[in-house]
Amino acid sequence: MGSARLAHKTGSVLRAVALAAAAMLPTFLLASALLAGGTPAPDEASMAIRTRRPRAVLIATGPEGAPLVVVDAGHGGHDQGAVAADGTPEKQLTLAIAQDVAAALARTGRLRVAMTRTDDEAVDLTERREIARAAGAALLLSIHCDSAPNRRARGVTVYTLSDQPVDDAAAALAVRENRVDGGADLLAETSDVPAILLDLARRQTAADAASFAGLLARALVPALAPRQVFLRGAGFRVLRAPDLPAALLETGYLTNDGDLALLKSANYRRALADGVARAAQAFFARRPAQAGGVGR
Ligand SMILES: [Zn+2]
Repeated sequence: MGSARLAHKTGSVLRAVALAAAAMLPTFLLASALLAGGTPAPDEASMAIRTRRPRAVLIATGPEGAPLVVVDAGHGGHDQGAVAADGTPEKQLTLAIAQDVAAALARTGRLRVAMTRTDDEAVDLTERREIARAAGAALLLSIHCDSAPNRRARGVTVYTLSDQPVDDAAAALAVRENRVDGGADLLAETSDVPAILLDLARRQTAADAASFAGLLARALVPALAPRQVFLRGAGFRVLRAPDLPAALLETGYLTNDGDLALLKSANYRRALADGVARAAQAFFARRPAQAGGVGR
């Protein structure tokens, strides 16, 4: 997989820079070859088995060249996430919601769709975003449920990556969501990539992520009214990829009885999922030049 060919396909210098960064992490490219149906070299295949690196689970193949959206169900396995008063773990709700979101994205007929997990397994936070990058994702959406000491707190929040959290609550949430990840931040170690080029790629990615987050917040308002949809930034590790627009959706508060009932309701999840699908379609309609994703 030569970065020159990919750069030609995407027509973006910034993408090429980001790909150069990805090329320094060769194992990440394995999943891309496997997901795309390519035949990995024997040594690559054996390495994939040996390391048991999780791969994106393809949900919908979509039309040829369609952008790939990766839906990430937060937590899983030993990492339960927050736990509701009735004992429902966040990991269970995030998986149900993520599956509904993936199904709604698939129903558009215009997108390829994959998930980072489709059962109750633990996946490292850094690995989640690398699964998405390796699969050639054009967009990553991580699904979570919020919690707060104040049981009256409720509502939906769309987060994008920010190193300056908007307030203490956002900073605390990022700390909570990042806590399960004991791994190093691999991208911070790619010091061979000139910082200024990586910074350029990050800026473009941040602009794309903000664009999607704005579309998502707007798309969710009619589905969720009269509940509010907030748009915020915080330092979520799962969102920290220089070349992949990503957002994290806090779908409601486990600690609020009303929100918990909604999160368990198929109707609410369907409305939420349809909102995500509308936002994703609008997002890719705005940026057709990059619709192929970096891994195609
Ligand atoms: Zn969470």
